[in-house]
Amino acid sequence: MQEAENTTLMCDKCKVYLKPAKTTLSYLGNNFFTELPRCPVCGQAYLSEELAKGKIAEVEKLLEDK
Ligand SMILES: [Zn+2]
Repeated sequence: MQEAENTTLMCDKCKVYLKPAKTTLSYLGNNFFTELPRCPVCGQAYLSEELAKGKIAEVEKLLEDK
């Protein structure tokens, strides 16, 4: 089951809503493109611990499939 990305997050600094943007994640020396909520003004990507764990789990699944 896939949870919908939460796009109602706000940038603390800019007070604007974060938008999903393609972001490069590095994990175990591999780079992966994924969509993360990102501030369109300052470009700060938001990655909560919970979200990070989910993304890493996805990446691990991708690695296992290879
Ligand atoms: Zn911002």
